[in-house]
Amino acid sequence: MKFLAAPLVLSLVLSGLLQSAKRLPVEELMPAAEDTVAADTLTHSYTSISAIGDLMCHSTQYKYVATGDGHYDFTPCFSAIAPVLKMADLCVGNLETTLAGRSRPYSGYPQFNTPDDYVVYLKEAGIDFLVTANNHSNDTGEKGIRRTLQVIDSVGFYHTGTFGSEEERNAPQLLELNGIKVCILAYTYGTNGFELPAGKPWLVNQIDSALIRQDVRQARAQGAEVIITFMHWGTEYSRKPDSYQEKVATWCVDAGADIILGSHPHVLQPAGRYITRNAAVDTGFIAWSMGNFISNQRDRYTYEGIVWHIGIEKELATGKIRIADLSYTPTWVYRGTLPDHQVHIVYSARDTLPEWMPAGMWKELDNSALHTAALMENLNGIIFEP
Ligand SMILES: [Zn+2]
Repeated sequence: MKFLAAPLVLSLVLSGLLQSAKRLPVEELMPAAEDTVAADTLTHSYTSISAIGDLMCHSTQYKYVATGDGHYDFTPCFSAIAPVLKMADLCVGNLETTLAGRSRPYSGYPQFNTPDDYVVYLKEAGIDFLVTANNHSNDTGEKGIRRTLQVIDSVGFYHTGTFGSEEERNAPQLLELNGIKVCILAYTYGTNGFELPAGKPWLVNQIDSALIRQDVRQARAQGAEVIITFMHWGTEYSRKPDSYQEKVATWCVDAGADIILGSHPHVLQPAGRYITRNAAVDTGFIAWSMGNFISNQRDRYTYEGIVWHIGIEKELATGKIRIADLSYTPTWVYRGTLPDHQVHIVYSARDTLPEWMPAGMWKELDNSALHTAALMENLNGIIFEP
């Protein structure tokens, strides 16, 4: 029932009651005062999507949470931010590692092999959808790509970006969120020079204008009403988009993408609206880079992230889509002592930090919210005109 919002459930319940009206006493048919909202919601449906950036797993991240019995308990990393992630109907992020298992040592940068427990705790934190196309997709080869997909399937994630077969790659998956059909597509600029095996380019979606066009066209033909392209691109540590991002974003817009979400620079970049080529949508939304959601990076701005809250409304009579709400929660990664052991913790920069936190951390948290607010000052304006 997760993808049915309360008003829709209510309207279904009411219509069920009306169909069986003859068998019910009158008082059960009388809607309570608050139920009158159902009359409005019948004209529109609404869904909320949250998006976050790079889910990194540097070696200290899993070493800090090793329980000593072969398990890794990431609970403290996400427990503060989980309620924010769980507010949306769907939460999507970029899994920037592979799960190749114990057949090779676990490792962080530069070739990531992360314990499976990591994604179990991502799921528990409220993330529903993982994008797997990024420059680390091929860090542990084809075996790693396939095993990563098996593990995230078994944990119950939706996912896209890397694939087990050409057929799977060629079949964009649609999600129905409160009656709105959404398709997420994901591509990366490359795989750090690790070549994909000959004849299997479909293992990892690479940025390619023809491929994006083909996928968007197919998703639309299958009935997608909102198409999100999740792009791994840009210049690391740059807080503004580069010319490559602008060129690729133009391809996405021309292909018909409604929302463009970016990752890879490890820092945030601006976000705002654009005019789409899709007459059924009021405006597009582009977040050039969503930064790190969690990592061990401590360079300036790399510990500042974001949870985007994107509210999408559909007018049922016309099928017109509106990006009705755009807002965000700034996030910040604490790396330090819990107080008895080392840990990384993602906080909302609107949180109150716990008492034991060193005083300097409060300043860092406040500053991170200010940095993010400065980047997003034109959030509801048109910031990109391809
Ligand atoms: Zn990357």
